[in-house]
Amino acid sequence: MSWNGTVTCKHCWQEGHNRRGCPKLKEQMAQRLAEDPEDWRAKRYFEKKQGAKVRRCTYCNLKGHNRATCPELKGAVSEWKYKNSNWRKAIIEELLAAGLGVGALIKHADLPWRITEQKNLVMVAGVNPDAHINQPYTALVVQGIIKPTEKSPAKMPDGVLTKVYEKVGLPGGYYGTSVTVMSETKNCHLRTIPNHEEWLQGGTAKWIKKEIFADKQSDDFYENKYKD
Ligand SMILES: [Zn+2]
Ligand SMILES: [Zn+2]
Repeated sequence: MSWNGTVTCKHCWQEGHNRRGCPKLKEQMAQRLAEDPEDWRAKRYFEKKQGAKVRRCTYCNLKGHNRATCPELKGAVSEWKYKNSNWRKAIIEELLAAGLGVGALIKHADLPWRITEQKNLVMVAGVNPDAHINQPYTALVVQGIIKPTEKSPAKMPDGVLTKVYEKVGLPGGYYGTSVTVMSETKNCHLRTIPNHEEWLQGGTAKWIKKEIFADKQSDDFYENKYKD
């Protein structure tokens, strides 16, 4: 708005109306739509004019549903769940095969400073219930010998990570650490995990949506912007 109170249109530079109310713009958009009914810019112009703000799914960017009911997201979640389930089963199997059950005594090369007494001699306490296939390197939980109340996620042994990789694959770029087994056990880790049956299935869809897919969009998100 200028000093004397008149508006100037940023589209045609006439005074007395703004861009939203511009008759020239409206005419041009109508013409574009007549020439090409798929002209998305023209379509959006009239959609906005009708006041009908078109809602699109925040995952796939298509119309007609939302994130909570998105079929593509649902498919992606169950695919991830399946992979995570296989990965978690493989972690348990390979830790046990290596003698790294609950109570095993190990020398661990790479530990948080709080529990590194006795030259890194620690006991396997279980697996980290929060571990999933996107974060495979701290699936093991160890505890100190002198202060057994101190538990900490620890890097996975190299050999175990390699075997799990061969079995189910990992997203890549993860490195384990060297671990020497001083005294092995075959005590399964599952009893250290609350709801371990659900855990072995890869987690609940609700948890996966929240933890893994919260800020994710479909690969087709930008392409779908132009679709009905
Ligand atoms: Zn105008
Ligand atoms: Zn969707």
